[in-house]
Amino acid sequence: MKRTLFLLMLLFLAACGRPSSEPAASDYRETNYAKNGPRFKLLLLYDDRAEEAHVQFDHQAIAFFNKLTVGEGFIVDSTQNLGAFTADQLKEYTAIIALNAAPSREARTLFENYMENGGGWIGFHAAAYNDSRTQWPWFLRFLGGGVFKCNNWPPQPALLELDRKDHPVTRNLPDTYVCPATEFYQWTPEPRENPDIEVLVSLSPRNFPMGLKDIVYGGDFPVVWTNRNYRMIYINMGHGDEQFSDATEQLLFINALQWIVSNDPNGNPLDK
Ligand code: ZN
Repeated sequence: MKRTLFLLMLLFLAACGRPSSEPAASDYRETNYAKNGPRFKLLLLYDDRAEEAHVQFDHQAIAFFNKLTVGEGFIVDSTQNLGAFTADQLKEYTAIIALNAAPSREARTLFENYMENGGGWIGFHAAAYNDSRTQWPWFLRFLGGGVFKCNNWPPQPALLELDRKDHPVTRNLPDTYVCPATEFYQWTPEPRENPDIEVLVSLSPRNFPMGLKDIVYGGDFPVVWTNRNYRMIYINMGHGDEQFSDATEQLLFINALQWIVSNDPNGNPLDK
């Protein structure tokens, strides 16, 4: 008996005496390949009837997000018709990624209920487009109050600046970087005026005047922001076929995805 106790004590001491450089168990997690199964589900919303440059982006984005599922880490479904889903079906998705597409009129209430009950949304480019014809007050509040004001044309690269350097979505991005050619939307009133809105990235004033046909001469120009009242992030980029050629942009998109997913009110699926 004494011998057993002695051996147990030796084992305990050996376990305590691991070199301090060895990572603690909480520092890393095992991959979940085929072990825990896919951790969460995303729904991509897109619209093939949109303008050609938006469809180009959407198809590249669908390929991009599908590629991220390698190893069956998560599941990606895509649809052009949110209205085909029931509320219970939609609840299964940790987030909707809106690629240049907003819910149809028939699906507006469904989407509102999804978001008001903890749903996630990552909106790209025209996903936030709204004007006087949109007539959807909830959506305008959700976006932060900004109605489409103007845009640069043609699409072009632009210098971007971080507003927040310590946010999970931006902390590993350069303080300023040139974003590949895209069309940028400016909004009125400017979303930054809304205390619920947190702007993460803006277009640098050093770009002005920006454009050759449609010229933007100045003004506040946020391009990535969140509304603190919702699990959402809006990303202005998403026009044409150049966004996925750039590592910084890809990193921004992955950061946004990781942040939105990890804040799921039902528990962080990445902890599974
Ligand atoms: Zn566009």
